[in-house]
Amino acid sequence: ESGKKNISLIVVGHVDAGKSTLMGRLLYDIGELTEKEKTANERGSKKVGKGSFAFAWGLDALGDERDRGVTIDIATTHFTTLHRNYTLLDAPGHRDFIPAMISGAAQADVALMVVDGSPGEFEAGFERGGQTREHAWLVRSLGVKEIIVGINKMDLVSWSQDRYEEIVDSLKPFLVSAGFSAAKTTFLPLAAMEGINIIENECQELKEWYTGPPLLTALDKVEVPARPYESPLRIPVSNVFKGQTAIASGVAVSGRLCSGVVQVGDRLRAVPGDEVATVRTIEVDEDSSPYAVSGQNVTLYLSGIDPINLSIGTVLCPTSLPVPLVNKFTTQILVFDLQSPIIVGTTVELFHHSVNLPATISKLLNIMEKGQVTKKNPRVLQKGMTATIELTLRPSGNNTTNNNTNNLVRIPLETAQENKEMGRVLIRRNGETIAAGVVTELM
Ligand code: GDP
Repeated sequence: ESGKKNISLIVVGHVDAGKSTLMGRLLYDIGELTEKEKTANERGSKKVGKGSFAFAWGLDALGDERDRGVTIDIATTHFTTLHRNYTLLDAPGHRDFIPAMISGAAQADVALMVVDGSPGEFEAGFERGGQTREHAWLVRSLGVKEIIVGINKMDLVSWSQDRYEEIVDSLKPFLVSAGFSAAKTTFLPLAAMEGINIIENECQELKEWYTGPPLLTALDKVEVPARPYESPLRIPVSNVFKGQTAIASGVAVSGRLCSGVVQVGDRLRAVPGDEVATVRTIEVDEDSSPYAVSGQNVTLYLSGIDPINLSIGTVLCPTSLPVPLVNKFTTQILVFDLQSPIIVGTTVELFHHSVNLPATISKLLNIMEKGQVTKKNPRVLQKGMTATIELTLRPSGNNTTNNNTNNLVRIPLETAQENKEMGRVLIRRNGETIAAGVVTELM
């Protein structure tokens, strides 16, 4: 149990690709769901219609959260294989849920992308407006380095090798252009509904040409990223609640350790603010633990702090090494698909872990190619460019992360050089992700 490595997985893909079916099937096949739950969930799934798969499958994690009366940000589910403890981060497929997905992807080590292999459906999900491209960009931009692509519904194309290769041939170059290294992209054919090639490949037609691993084996082979234990502790809070479980009760927060280590008894500073809290209990995978390390998702029960001083977006840090707070910073961005060009004064939404705040693009500093500045002070930025910009946060009506009296909105942030996970942002405009960036300078 304790020798197993922890890994966080996010499932993404166009709506209807089969994500819920696949994850339900996987959990059922490895024995995390009983036959009774499966039948009940299939019924429940029909009733609730299209939602997140945790919702569709009524998984335990979500049940707990509901009982605690929490607003659900992202749901997590745990499962265990011979080699790994998995945290499954739920990313609902609807367009409107992209902000929830951003929060999930920021916590993930590996992405499982599900595409529909049936005629015309892969193409529909892959074209502009489909979610395949945006999801791939998002997970990569948020630091996920490895992606496994399940080409699903292969039963509908009679397990055609030609169809499979056609999809691989259009997706692979795209994923590489989105920033995945070719060696970190794995493809496999699946039929989620019949449960083929998930734990085992028992399909005769598939065996004729596919000799690679089934999904679970491919997952177990994913390299667990090195965790920055040495850097100071950073826990961006994704949820705050009054907890009451078998393990503990009181003020509780959940989030993922971006870096560092936390132990029961530690005194932590909640930024923004001057409050210090003491860690009473640490919950990892629904069990109490004396400590947690970088990469783990935790719930911490705290004492000595009024929950009024905690909110989504608070970052918990060592008292001696708090994270900086900034109103303005520069970021090197990659510009995604755009409806209209980016100019100075463009108003956007800044996404950082679980928070989003209104911001203004206050300067266009340069355009870069292959790491070299090719143009200074450009007037516009177009799709596909790499550029450095300055972002300034704007006050909003109900800004919860700001405890300042001088009306200056500030966010806990670090440069990517200082702390990779703390130094990554996404920029959206009118519900579309227009750029992803790494923070280069705090101002
Ligand atoms: P999600 O939106 O990605 O979560 O997709 P769902 O899991 O809800 O699946 C969408 C539809 O595709 C449902 O009607 C499933 O029954 C169907 N489906 C999922 N996997 C397969 C498969 O392997 N073969 C076939 N024929 N249908 C599938």
